[in-house]
Amino acid sequence: MTGLAVATRPATTSTPRLTVDLGAVARNTRALADRASGELMAVVKADGFGHGAADVARTALAHGATRLGVTSLAEAFALRDAGFVVPILSWLNPVDADFPAAAVRDVEVAVPSLAHLAAVAAAPGKLRIHLHVDAGMARDGAEPTEWTALCRAARRAEQRSDVAVVGVMGHLGCADDPADACNARGRTRFAWAVEVARAAGLRPRERHLAATAATLTDPRTHHTMSRVGAGLVGIDPSGTTALEPAMTLTAPLVQVRRVRAGTPVGYGHAHRTSRATHLGLLPLGYADGLPRVASERAEVLVRGVRRPVVGRISMDQVVVDLGAEGAQAGEIATVFGPGPDGAPTAAEWAAWAGTIEHEVVTGIGARVPRVVRAAAHLRALASEGRR
Ligand SMILES: *Cc1c(COP(=O)(O)O)cnc(C)c1O
Repeated sequence: MTGLAVATRPATTSTPRLTVDLGAVARNTRALADRASGELMAVVKADGFGHGAADVARTALAHGATRLGVTSLAEAFALRDAGFVVPILSWLNPVDADFPAAAVRDVEVAVPSLAHLAAVAAAPGKLRIHLHVDAGMARDGAEPTEWTALCRAARRAEQRSDVAVVGVMGHLGCADDPADACNARGRTRFAWAVEVARAAGLRPRERHLAATAATLTDPRTHHTMSRVGAGLVGIDPSGTTALEPAMTLTAPLVQVRRVRAGTPVGYGHAHRTSRATHLGLLPLGYADGLPRVASERAEVLVRGVRRPVVGRISMDQVVVDLGAEGAQAGEIATVFGPGPDGAPTAAEWAAWAGTIEHEVVTGIGARVPRVVRAAAHLRALASEGRR
């Protein structure tokens, strides 16, 4: 299996390594596609949540997704450069973004304001747009007070053939807690927004509100399409569904030393050993995405045993208490992984750092070499191609 692994930067056993399991992405996509009543848009913003945008996109499209979504136009253009021909939507752009290039490269854009509409309509070509309503987060999307005017102006622009309104989109602020009343208000506002668009004469084929959590918990949010990102890589913000984490972070012990009780460890001597023990050094630190705030709480797996991170997490390195047993320099520690082998998960690291898994997996630094394990289906395609 590893024979077909694609190393984007060479990883040897003497370096840290981030392994991305596209088989997990494939199975997660399937599970999400089975739940969604409409189409599935694979959201691969932020380099596919740190897993590699093109790899996640290719895998998701082969297992049930039909479209791609990103925030910036630059991300969308990179996907076009990588050869993706499916519809791509970009939803977070300043008014002076390169909308002419979006038209040339056939990238759909979300329009959250009259100013954006004017900029998009002024671009040569006829951009396909999704009107974006704020469903109650006071974040991106048009204010309800501006929505009717936006729909009417979009209809006029459509009649002039300056744009084609192909979608209406919203986003829920509390979908990770399905019981929160904010969800009902978001659904109601979205239904109202679609009605206003219709009353203005628009016929948006795509109506999309749900991200991963709502896709997994509330069919009333599904409409014609779900936009899922976190779920593809094994994160369920609602905590209701077992998905498979797709990322494993490992590192070799670069040094192991025997120390006496009372030995101070690391910057500020923030830790002192309580007994004679072995200390192991891993070449990963906060510059590689290990949250410094997880110092003295985090654990890693060495020889099948959880071992505590001791002292402060440094920029480039951490110290692990290996106990009386110790280990040899060169042995591999698992920092986090999918979990069945007993290694910590990204979710545990998130808890140690007081954050969410998304921040852990998107935070792994570019210095860490990556290995991508292909999904079985894609491996079969690759070997057919070689014959
Ligand atoms: C990131 C994002 C998504 C994907 O959300 P997940 O919870 O990761 O599935 C969907 N829609 C918008 C507008 C987003 O910004």
